[in-house]
Amino acid sequence: MSDRRATPKPFSIAIAGGGITGLCLANALVRHKIPVHVYEAAPAFTEIGAGVGLGPNAIRAMALMDQDILRAYEACQTTNVSPAEQGRFFNFRYGMEKPSSDGMKAGELICDVRSGSVTSSVHRARFLDQLARLMPKEATSFGKRISAIDDEGEGVVLSFADGTQAKHDAVVGCDGIKSRVRRLLLGETDGASLPVFSGKYCYRGLAPADKAIELLGEQMASESQMYLGRPGHVLTTLIEQGKTVNVVAYTTKEDGKWEDPEWVKSASKEEMLGNFHGWSKPVEDILHLVEKPNMWALFDHPPAKTYHRKGKICLLGDAAHASTPHHGAGAGMGVEDALILTKLLAAVDSKTELEDVFATYDAIRRPRTQRLVTSSRKLGEIYDFQDQTIGDNMGAMGNYLAHAWDWIWNEDLTQHLGKAEKLLTVARQKGITQPKGVRVREAPPRV
Ligand SMILES: Cc1cc2nc3c(=O)[nH]c(=O)nc-3n(C[C@H](O)[C@H](O)[C@H](O)COP(=O)(O)OP(=O)(O)OC[C@H]3O[C@@H](n4cnc5c(N)ncnc54)[C@H](O)[C@@H]3O)c2cc1C
Repeated sequence: MSDRRATPKPFSIAIAGGGITGLCLANALVRHKIPVHVYEAAPAFTEIGAGVGLGPNAIRAMALMDQDILRAYEACQTTNVSPAEQGRFFNFRYGMEKPSSDGMKAGELICDVRSGSVTSSVHRARFLDQLARLMPKEATSFGKRISAIDDEGEGVVLSFADGTQAKHDAVVGCDGIKSRVRRLLLGETDGASLPVFSGKYCYRGLAPADKAIELLGEQMASESQMYLGRPGHVLTTLIEQGKTVNVVAYTTKEDGKWEDPEWVKSASKEEMLGNFHGWSKPVEDILHLVEKPNMWALFDHPPAKTYHRKGKICLLGDAAHASTPHHGAGAGMGVEDALILTKLLAAVDSKTELEDVFATYDAIRRPRTQRLVTSSRKLGEIYDFQDQTIGDNMGAMGNYLAHAWDWIWNEDLTQHLGKAEKLLTVARQKGITQPKGVRVREAPPRV
């Protein structure tokens, strides 16, 4: 619970990056009277014009963090239309023209995965805009790309690409999949400091919902659909209160390599359609409606040995555990990270305890968030009929998908938080937390 009467904490936190993770964390810290400043590399908070879906775990995390954050989300969410549809995640459908090995035909339902509560999507830019509005103006600086972090004993000095510097007690890297803070924390020679290509890429774009309804019918266009095939999958979700369909069409790069320095590029509709020959009519229809698609190469992170160093640096969101998007849960994990770190910071009263806080956060969050990275890769292969056991057997596919989100959505976050708080209490009694299996890397002062 926010304690709006509390006096400000005697330490200040710098946040590198104002994406969904950074702004959720920043808002939650402000509301817990923890001095914070967001340094964003871009000239303004920016997000691409695409949708992001948040599962019930992320919604619960927002509610536990702060009601204003939840309201910011609710102000721009699109839930699955009718009350009967509430809680539907995706209708998984067989997407190819040719029947599957066990006889499933084009467009048939493999299974309908429900989250048990509200599953909703937002237009990313609108959500970020709502979160940005909640922030005090003086707590944010733009055009500040962090390039170096110096450990000054008492705190950290951040150096920015524009030649300026800032001093804080600690810095939290929320600077996304290409995180500079991650490289500085792990070291340039650590194989996990850079993301790796997953072998898959996707086309993303938006289609007008009225046209999609004309072509596919009300139900197919307005419910979230995921069409599975070889070697890719195509998903559609309604965003912007039902006005727009968010379309993402995934495929596999045959040679498994991505050598282009650009990961996001504009693409032509023809090129996108060329990847989906042999797919069923609903898939072709929806892809024809997408104007100006972008192509996204999908990278993820090898597991980091640690998410923190010495009470000075900590990693959250994609900077800590960028995953492929196949579970649709990366942003939600960042929101959970923000919840746990906020509550742990709120529980301490001196900067000497930041090391205990970060070590506790690391011990609690690393296993769950790294599981997302590996589970998401596997799910991508399953969707695209590349799993050795499941292949294109839609019966086996349905059985797998029916429970693939249980561990993500059903996590009891109150209990998760309780565990974190207990671990922090033990650490504070003993001194520095060093939970089993967690190694804190030693490093030279210049990080
Ligand atoms: C195709 C696709 C679909 C997805 N769909 C979903 C979904 O449906 N649901 C879901 O939960 N997740 C989804 N994800 C994952 C989700 O997009 C990410 O997990 C989420 O956006 C990560 O947020 P973040 O704030 O941690 O990082 P980012 O959104 O990457 O934000 C990082 C911020 O840091 C800034 N920055 C970078 N470097 C620096 C620096 N050196 N100094 C200062 N600032 C810096 C950037 O400008 C940016 O504003 C999807 C991902 C992809 C690729």
